[in-house]
Amino acid sequence: MTVGERRWLIAGNWKMHTTYEEALELAGAIQQRCRSLPDVEVVLIPPFPWIVPLAERLRGSAIALGAQTCSAYDQGAYTGEVSARMIAPFCQYVIVGHSERRRLFAETDEVVAAKLRAALRYGLRPILCVGEDLEEREAGATLHVIEHQLRLACEALSLAECKRIIIAYEPVWAIGTGRPATPADAQSVAEWIRRWFVLRFGELDEQLRILYGGSVTAENARGFFEVPDIDGALVGGASLDAAQFCGIVEATRSAKARLE
Ligand code: PEP
Repeated sequence: MTVGERRWLIAGNWKMHTTYEEALELAGAIQQRCRSLPDVEVVLIPPFPWIVPLAERLRGSAIALGAQTCSAYDQGAYTGEVSARMIAPFCQYVIVGHSERRRLFAETDEVVAAKLRAALRYGLRPILCVGEDLEEREAGATLHVIEHQLRLACEALSLAECKRIIIAYEPVWAIGTGRPATPADAQSVAEWIRRWFVLRFGELDEQLRILYGGSVTAENARGFFEVPDIDGALVGGASLDAAQFCGIVEATRSAKARLE
């Protein structure tokens, strides 16, 4: 068990990768390889079209499903959108505010906040991504950027709603670059995020789960899981390889070290 009552969460964001056959094969391999660890929640986040078949395939297993985004709207004339309401029967989680959505699809903090609320309305657990880009980091603006992102997404939420959110700290410069943050840097931002929530939502601190994301691999994951405020990982590239992804799941065992 991780610090307090927080359960580890390892989520694999497949992004716009895999054919239908590859998706079934990858999910099957992960299901076989990932030993069922009671303290770890494993979440696969495939492209939209594979969600329903994977929900069928994984029924009865301990592996949960998530979506990579959702619409800010519940239903209506919004061509191409997929609502939280449509996703909710098949998924437990949904990513909101991933830096690729913010950067490539012009999602503003206001849109991210609306998506977060839509996800909560339908009982999904949002994984809210926050993080600074390289320029912001070099300007010493990391915490300023994260404060802004958190405030716009979360300040109108109730304590009960906040308890359903997972935060993923994902420095943009570390995503897909093979250059992860150091565990110490990730810890100091995660600790700051936890304090930010405590100041606004009091008793939330021990329950809020904070993930690190950005070039996590089976080889470097352990370092992130040994620091006190990181409760898992949001994994991109390495989640497309069953051995890598399950190696990251296994690395949570080092959690014991931080409690001793
Ligand atoms: C991501 O896109 O959320 C991510 C963390 O990607 P990668 O692991 O490939 O850096």
